[in-house]
Amino acid sequence: MILVYAEHDRGELDPVTLQAISAAKALDADVQAVVVGHGAKDVAAELAAFGAVSVHVGNHPELLDFTPRAHARAVNALVTANSPRAVIAGGTPRGNEVLGHLAAMRDEPFASECVSIELASGDTAEIVRARWGGNLLDEATVTSSLLIATVQAHAFAATSADAPLSVSEFDVELADGDVLVRVEDRVGSSAGGVGLAEAKVVVSGGRGMDGPDAFVMLEEIAGVIGGAVGCSRVVTSAGWRPHAEQVGQTGTKVAPDLYLACGISGATQHIAGCKSAKTLIAINTDSQAPIMGFADYMVVDNVHTFLPLFIEKLKAASN
Ligand SMILES: Cc1cc2nc3c(=O)[nH]c(=O)nc-3n(C[C@H](O)[C@H](O)[C@H](O)COP(=O)(O)OP(=O)(O)OC[C@H]3O[C@@H](n4cnc5c(N)ncnc54)[C@H](O)[C@@H]3O)c2cc1C
Repeated sequence: MILVYAEHDRGELDPVTLQAISAAKALDADVQAVVVGHGAKDVAAELAAFGAVSVHVGNHPELLDFTPRAHARAVNALVTANSPRAVIAGGTPRGNEVLGHLAAMRDEPFASECVSIELASGDTAEIVRARWGGNLLDEATVTSSLLIATVQAHAFAATSADAPLSVSEFDVELADGDVLVRVEDRVGSSAGGVGLAEAKVVVSGGRGMDGPDAFVMLEEIAGVIGGAVGCSRVVTSAGWRPHAEQVGQTGTKVAPDLYLACGISGATQHIAGCKSAKTLIAINTDSQAPIMGFADYMVVDNVHTFLPLFIEKLKAASN
């Protein structure tokens, strides 16, 4: 049996969880999911639709919002009760944190951001994991009767499998210190519209936008073609845009059909977040900028002169 830690936010399932279920199904048909928190039961049907044959909902009053160690405690209880061959989660900040705690609780190794997992005979598993923002693929053998691993976002495609819905509930027993880290407050993002991680089009800006005002152009483009606005770390560090919009190694990893990089140099840490784009168009005054080496199409021009013309043409074409 493979146990998948299902990540959700108040009943909204993280898409990487579904990719984790697909990765688990390739290893064993008996994939079960564990889910805790406010709205946990609401995601059970979706987990079954993607192949979880059984969904375990962990209950405890302290588990309503994200509490990483307490979530790990819930997963740990099921590991003890059911002895799965592996525990897998999405390679998101939350997935990595919860399984990191689980590994520490069980004194087992933890393999994060796997792009390939094979269970070999006995207690060994062959894994490949992405390191240094995907610039290095690390092949490793994990020797343990319990593999604890997360899968890198977009490394596995989520495929529907339609398992019958089977939900059971269990009470979680917490230990001292399990709720030391928890969500106390939420600050709403002003961003509406399409989510960055799942957007089919990402219109992204870097230092070359020269300040927050010019991002209005990127919002306009995203509005016309139904995309999301992204940016480089320079932009979030300068406070021009919120961190939630940062693309890259320490930001969101995106895999859109189209990535429009405006005034972005293409540092490896940025490319780590957008290299799965099907088509990348770079607009940059410097034809030798690193991003040009990754671009399918390059526009060597100033964003401040090119983008207004581009918007005009785009609007005309969409009318
Ligand atoms: C541990 C670590 C993690 C990091 N994580 C991330 C991450 O997740 N995401 C990320 O983005 N970065 C990350 N960085 C930072 C990264 O190394 C780069 O510094 C950053 O990506 C550069 O941002 P930029 O391309 O906007 O700026 P720059 O590198 O300064 O590039 C600006 C580009 O704009 C072009 N330009 C200037 N003016 C114009 C104009 N008017 N019109 C058109 N083009 C113009 C320039 O030719 C240049 O190519 C990380 C760094 C470290 C050390």
